[in-house]
Amino acid sequence: MEKSVRVAVRVRPLSAKEKAAARPSVVAVAPKEHQVTVRKKTYTFDRVFGQYASQKDVFKGVVQSVVDEALAGFNCTVFAYGQTGTGKTHTIQGKLSPHDENAGIIPRSVNYIFDKLQATKSEYSVRVSFLQLYNEELKDLLGENKKDKPLRLMEDAKRGGVYCQNLEEVTTLTAAHVFELLEIGSKNRITAETLLNEQSSRSHCIFTIRIHSKESNIPGEEMIRSGTLNLVDLAGSECIGRSGARNVRAREAGNINQSLLTLGRVITALVDKHPHVPYRDSKLTRLLQESLGGRAMTTVIATLGPAGDCIDETMSTLDYAHRAK
Ligand code: ADP
Ligand code: MG
Repeated sequence: MEKSVRVAVRVRPLSAKEKAAARPSVVAVAPKEHQVTVRKKTYTFDRVFGQYASQKDVFKGVVQSVVDEALAGFNCTVFAYGQTGTGKTHTIQGKLSPHDENAGIIPRSVNYIFDKLQATKSEYSVRVSFLQLYNEELKDLLGENKKDKPLRLMEDAKRGGVYCQNLEEVTTLTAAHVFELLEIGSKNRITAETLLNEQSSRSHCIFTIRIHSKESNIPGEEMIRSGTLNLVDLAGSECIGRSGARNVRAREAGNINQSLLTLGRVITALVDKHPHVPYRDSKLTRLLQESLGGRAMTTVIATLGPAGDCIDETMSTLDYAHRAK
């Protein structure tokens, strides 16, 4: 059986500023061996992408198979995890134009999904939503006209699971329409983050695509598939601090990101096959509960900066990511 949690690492190139300051790269990458070495410590992951890996390489390498699962009717989640400035947004979103080489996972997944759906003769419907989670509060990035109606997580008594009340879910038939929605959503995200000022890196962004398709290969027999793909740009990993939950002072100051911390615990519990998975301890994990664990496929892409000045954060990202393996 395929592993339900897969972990990849992506190291971004040195930035112009880091190059100008003659900062050496302290992260050694061996993509063929799936290994990263920092401070003489070597970690092995499911995949490792170095500075020369393109957006396409990342999509083909660790995301396309996940999107195939969602098309086949399963629930899936791709997370970008890492310190602020290491390439989470570049990886998950990147350029939002459909054919730009810098287009990230969201635009590539959208194109891929509609290409596949339109190539088969099946009937389909696709619904998308885009939300932000900041300080355990949810904000709808597509439903600006419903400002007076707060988003709330509710237990679904009939079907089981959790849903988000008042969340705008837009039904769409074309990739072009989704790109229009993404444009609106990412503008709202930037506005919201500007309002939050320096704390922008403390919010999570979740883009969700729900795919329903109906095939009737054999006359009189129908096959209905419904799958969900969540693409998540997490808050900066510095938000849980180096010592995680043990950092009492940071927690008292409200500086510990409950959702990020709980996500780590949920993933560890899933990997260890622990009977109790603490989904209920944060909004992020409640929201994604049906797309984490069980038959759901989860991919974590841990992003790293190559420079030495953030080496402690780099080590802590590698430790977090390695625990998820
Ligand atoms: P984060 O979302 O983790 O804070 P960003 O995605 O905003 O980080 O990336 C920080 C900067 O580095 C951006 O200017 C981005 O374009 C650049 N960057 C990140 N990853 C890469 C990469 N793999 N290749 C080229 N530039 C990158
Ligand atoms: Mg970002």
